[in-house]
Amino acid sequence: MLRIAVVGSGPSGVYAAQALVEQSAVPDVRVHILDRLPCPYGLVRYGVAPDHEKIKSLQNNLRTVLEDDRIEFLGNVEVGARGLGPQRLLELYHAVVYCVGAARDRRLGIPGEDLPGSHSATDFVSWYSAHPDAAPEPFTLGARTAVVIGVGNVAVDVARILARGADELRGTDVPEDALGALAASRVRDVHMVGRRGPSGAKFTTKELRELGALPSADVLVDPADLALETAYADPAAVPAIVRRNLTVVREWAARPPQGRPRRVHVRFFLRPVELLERDGRVGGVCFERTAPDGSGGVRGTGRYEVIEAQLVLRAVGYRGVPTEGLPFDADRGVVPNAAGRVLREGSCSPGEYVAGWIKRGPTGVIGTNRPCAKETVNSLLEDAAALGQRQVAADPEAALWAAGHRPVRWPGWLAIEEAETALGRTLGRPRVKIPDWTGLLDAAQAAASDRPDATR
Ligand SMILES: Cc1cc2nc3c(=O)[nH]c(=O)nc-3n(C[C@H](O)[C@H](O)[C@H](O)COP(=O)(O)OP(=O)(O)OC[C@H]3O[C@@H](n4cnc5c(N)ncnc54)[C@H](O)[C@@H]3O)c2cc1C
Repeated sequence: MLRIAVVGSGPSGVYAAQALVEQSAVPDVRVHILDRLPCPYGLVRYGVAPDHEKIKSLQNNLRTVLEDDRIEFLGNVEVGARGLGPQRLLELYHAVVYCVGAARDRRLGIPGEDLPGSHSATDFVSWYSAHPDAAPEPFTLGARTAVVIGVGNVAVDVARILARGADELRGTDVPEDALGALAASRVRDVHMVGRRGPSGAKFTTKELRELGALPSADVLVDPADLALETAYADPAAVPAIVRRNLTVVREWAARPPQGRPRRVHVRFFLRPVELLERDGRVGGVCFERTAPDGSGGVRGTGRYEVIEAQLVLRAVGYRGVPTEGLPFDADRGVVPNAAGRVLREGSCSPGEYVAGWIKRGPTGVIGTNRPCAKETVNSLLEDAAALGQRQVAADPEAALWAAGHRPVRWPGWLAIEEAETALGRTLGRPRVKIPDWTGLLDAAQAAASDRPDATR
């Protein structure tokens, strides 16, 4: 039997586990999926926006995989804690596939970034997604104007959540505190700002169009911002997705406001240079106007514009964080690898693999992780004969217990799901996420009878 640990139960971890048990080259593969959270699915649960129910429902596909007899979910097990580093994992398993994602935000590196009222989109997303590590901060309280820096899909997500009325989110699983804060929100204007033109933006057209279809917000585009866009001169020269995005923002620029209660201003060619302070908090953002530099980038023009705002969310990308004991390429924010084989000082490290965002960086959609995981598993299977020779622990889960880990197994997760549905029932909502560690672990306890003897 080949025993494999997959670290991380996001899409790449689940797809890696699926590829491992569904292949026929190596018989009898058993997989433990370890996750530091008591809940599976990674960013599908804690990143994908709550109003994107269809994408959220991908959890059902991932669930089918996790219910396979050859795969065991062990939540609440953090690799890097309680002596469970890469070296120890290799004593317990024939191979380890790290699928730990890249959920840390990139910084702007400009003055004022740490003022109260300035946050990463990561923190805001974690808050409305009920991530148990999120600070219980009422983000929107008091602010009238918000600036979202960035023009990718995450920027669109956070701008949309700010612009939606709480009533539109009541039918989702948004935690009750966040829903209350959004209901009390005084935010009326949201500026989503990019330093390049619309042809340099990273959003997908579907997400962009959704912003324009919100029932309670107008989307406004300043035609002067678009005048600088060089792609208009020769639309045939740009990729189809850029052409479609240009069409959408052009339509918006031509559309008069409908008088809806909130406004989303989509702005281009503005580079943030400083977050301005008012009364000890963020009070605005100073931007420098940019212009195309003739070689696909932008240059500063020396002209400045201030947007007054009491809430600033930075959505300029994600990056991986190092796992202690694993090599890390700090420039790219990934674990160095060759087709998924972890490289230590340039050589493949036997038994260590990576997949997903920590392998290739934070790009692509959920489905992109499937071929990425498959490539990694193919590498592992090529190495399987040698890996199978290694002596490993007979019962790795017992070793986790002995080291002080208290895994939440699949029945524990099902008990959390039940508790969330029950909470929703009491609040007159379909399901409401539990936002804190104690609540999640208490709910998982309901299935404790399923748990192996803690003294093992
Ligand atoms: C805000 C946001 C919204 C998104 N929306 C969409 C969308 O609508 N549609 C779409 O297609 N894609 C979307 N994506 C992209 C998609 O979520 C990613 O492609 C995907 O989640 C990456 O998968 P992953 O498995 O590499 O990482 P993740 O999903 O981040 O999973 C990593 C897992 O590893 C666990 N982990 C981390 N460290 C450890 C450790 N030390 N020990 C044990 N476990 C650990 C984490 O708890 C987590 O469960 C979105 C991304 C973000 C950030």
